[in-house]
Amino acid sequence: MSEFSVKGVRSMIDKALLPYSLIATRWNKLIPRKVNILAWRILLDRLPTRCNLAKKDVDIPSVLCPLCSGSAETRDHLFGACEIASNIWHSISKWLQISSFSSFGPTDIIEFVDNMQLSWEIPK
Ligand SMILES: [Zn+2]
Repeated sequence: MSEFSVKGVRSMIDKALLPYSLIATRWNKLIPRKVNILAWRILLDRLPTRCNLAKKDVDIPSVLCPLCSGSAETRDHLFGACEIASNIWHSISKWLQISSFSSFGPTDIIEFVDNMQLSWEIPK
């Protein structure tokens, strides 16, 4: 039997309660913390999409995408398949004067942010 320690109890609680992921947490120091957290949640599919809320038994009127009503609102739909969301992403990329996300998925966005050069200022 091992000796009692606060560190040992903390480790035991963390192993029991904290989610485990094979995807390492990654941080880009050039972008705000909240954007890093959003990117992390996208990769883990932990966004409060309607499908994820339904999985947690949250009472919602529909799981359909509120933008297009053409498909269930999932991470992959919002960041790739939704035509309206794609148009919004296109407008954002145009506003930022960067190449458009014409065909992308969640990992493409993360890769883009990791590789972007911030030698310019965000247009107002
Ligand atoms: Zn949609």
